[in-house]
Amino acid sequence: MAQRPAPYLEGLNAAQRAAVEALDGPVLVLAGAGTGKTRVLTTRIAHLLNTGKARPHEVLAVTFTNKAAREMKNRISRLMGEAIEGMPWLGTFHSVAVKILRRHAELVGLNSSFTILDTDDQLRLMKQVIIARGIDEKKWPARQLASLIDHWKNRGWTPEQVSAAESTEFNRLGITLYKDYQNRLKNLNACDFGDLLLHCLTIFLQHPDVLGRYQQWFRYILVDEYQDTNVAQYLWLRLLAQGYRNICCVGDDDQSIYGWRGAEVGNILRFEKDFAADEDKGRAGPQVIRLEQNYRSTPHILAAASSVIAGNRERLGKTLWTDQAEGEKVRLIGHWDGEEEARWIGEEAEALSQGRRPQGVVGLNDQAILVRASHQMRAFEDRFLTIGLPYRVIGGPRFYERLEIRDAMAYFRLAITPSDDLAFERIVNTPKRGLGDKAQGLIRDIARGHEEPLLSGARRVVDGAMLGGKGGAALRKFVQDMDRWHDEVLSARPAIAEDMVIEPVVPDAAPHRDHNHIRLAERMLEDSGYISMWQNDKTPEAEGRLENLKELVKALEEFDSLQGFLEHVALIMDNEKDEASEKITIMTLHGAKGLEFPAVWLPGWEEGIFPSQRSLDETGNRGLEEERRLAYVGITRAEQLCTISFAANRRVFGQWQSQLPSRFIDEIAEEHVDVLTAPGLYGGGYGAAAPSYGKSSVETRASEANVYNSPGWRRLQTQSAKPATPPRKITPPAALNGEILPDFDPGARVFHQKFGYGTVVSADGDKLGVEFDKAGSKHVMSSYVVAADAASDVP
Ligand code: ATP
Ligand code: MG
Repeated sequence: MAQRPAPYLEGLNAAQRAAVEALDGPVLVLAGAGTGKTRVLTTRIAHLLNTGKARPHEVLAVTFTNKAAREMKNRISRLMGEAIEGMPWLGTFHSVAVKILRRHAELVGLNSSFTILDTDDQLRLMKQVIIARGIDEKKWPARQLASLIDHWKNRGWTPEQVSAAESTEFNRLGITLYKDYQNRLKNLNACDFGDLLLHCLTIFLQHPDVLGRYQQWFRYILVDEYQDTNVAQYLWLRLLAQGYRNICCVGDDDQSIYGWRGAEVGNILRFEKDFAADEDKGRAGPQVIRLEQNYRSTPHILAAASSVIAGNRERLGKTLWTDQAEGEKVRLIGHWDGEEEARWIGEEAEALSQGRRPQGVVGLNDQAILVRASHQMRAFEDRFLTIGLPYRVIGGPRFYERLEIRDAMAYFRLAITPSDDLAFERIVNTPKRGLGDKAQGLIRDIARGHEEPLLSGARRVVDGAMLGGKGGAALRKFVQDMDRWHDEVLSARPAIAEDMVIEPVVPDAAPHRDHNHIRLAERMLEDSGYISMWQNDKTPEAEGRLENLKELVKALEEFDSLQGFLEHVALIMDNEKDEASEKITIMTLHGAKGLEFPAVWLPGWEEGIFPSQRSLDETGNRGLEEERRLAYVGITRAEQLCTISFAANRRVFGQWQSQLPSRFIDEIAEEHVDVLTAPGLYGGGYGAAAPSYGKSSVETRASEANVYNSPGWRRLQTQSAKPATPPRKITPPAALNGEILPDFDPGARVFHQKFGYGTVVSADGDKLGVEFDKAGSKHVMSSYVVAADAASDVP
């Protein structure tokens, strides 16, 4: 193939160019965030193809997500123009492994059309295996077995290898079940996710001829985000690379954030050993290339990130610099509570996207909110849906679409509306009550025969003792519980007109809303066994689901009744149909790895949230160091503007809890931080507290910055933030002080904290009928709306 000129090399710095041009032999690029590692990898592929060193199918490139693979493909096409035929093997470990496995499935007893089980099927199968052995399911929950087997597969262990490596009493039974499970999979011509790599490893090890073919095939191997590979992935790579030894891995030990999934930073050290020089064979050892210039972030952002990660001891260590203009400091802001935080970020993000901030226009597509745990997304989703700010959630369903949230809401729905058959079907056997297809069929037949809802059918089944055994008893309890909850829902209902919305009352008064509906919701989830179902679940996701359920209960506090809450959810879910092209991104810090955004919002930097409680409870520093790497990943996603925030108070099960700002905030070197004042927290009125930007503000805030870093600052902040009063719900100062209680005539434009902007259609004393732009028609108290032009940031 004739060599074409290589314009793609021109923009690279010397170290990057060296990394691109070192095509042969093992290469390890170890470098900090934003130094162009991914860019080097992409350019290397272009260079390999352009120089004719390899044809597209001779290149294997592994990325961490399918999204990253797609982006890389696009970039290569752009770099190469139309000039290439075919594409490299480019994808995640799993997507490449499945391609290989299909070709050789028969070598591990499968047929090439094997199916890949999803998590649900996987669990069902585990359960069958456990039951078949006559083992008590309570002793060996299927989920626990699943995570144990996953762990072994991540280490590259077949059942035989586990026996050799681990043989404690406890695990012996696990090994037997692991064997059974693998046999069942084989009989079904199926495999699970972990098998994709493990079967490949087995084939490679047992069939050197097959391995040899792939070793010849893949002349060049490239790996992105190398720090997060697990042992099985590493072994797979090492086997494939042993032919040509042309393997290039790029990574950053400071961004290793998947320890809990079996990733090993140790793989970086193993690489140097495994590919060490071999003089007998005339082989050179790996070239280790370091990149130090960061092209992504401004100096303040970079320095802030570096100062945080410096707190970790287990580091290989590296330098980072940038020649970009100084830019803005990392902004830090404390809020009264989580709702305030979500409200502020929503307003600021919108203002920024409309060019109403000194930073110029930063479109919503260029902004991201990165959270530590997915339950934190709820406050933002609620807020954004209410004000109509378009957003997208990446890496998982939206809050109200999550499995556990829909289950929980089905309990609420059925208690409110006993004829809600969809809700009945969803929860009658969740958690498991021994009411399988047969029992449910019976209930359905009886209900149909009497033309009644399913719950009534169930009541007949119970009363007529048509169902015996465990299932019959469980159904009786279910029906009795539901009947009782239905009565309680009715009595927990506030004695006011249904469509009347009562806001929390005057500031400085104790909240005098009763929490009957919240207690009831908690009881429903507990007494039904739903909470314990997840508590007994030993998978890593279970904890997140419990957090989400807590968050759901928290969301209830903004409403006077379960009905009101369900209406709200129906309303906001309906709003989702909007097709705006520009959207702000909400995602987890984990999901944001490798990505970059001009403006990044980092909320919830509080002890127990970030770093997570789990990492704080752990002995030793491992967990905490991983959290700190996550903080580093978060800050380094930002190009121009990075805003960290925390709330002084969070509500947990109706109780105020004061929060300590995250230790990571203290670790950011003071000179790179600009402390903003938030409405409420620092005593300023909204106008005075509206953050101002620019040089002068940096200077005038210097004294605050000193305070911020002085010893005891954290204590001071949390003390001053103790909630003597409930948080104020209404933005504009006029309404806060209760000074202005204006009369509104029909036609007046108003703003309401929860429902946004709207037009008054009727007025009866202090009750207004308002047609809200987003929320539709509502009755509200006039003291809880303000004239639209008195609200801040009227669009
Ligand atoms: P991370 O560790 O976060 O994955 P990375 O090291 O992979 O980061 P890249 O994403 O490749 O970094 O690059 C960061 C940004 O810098 C990208 O926008 C990229 O286009 C840009 N960049 C990289 N190298 C150069 C260069 N030589 N000239 C200009 N821009 C560059
Ligand atoms: Mg990258």
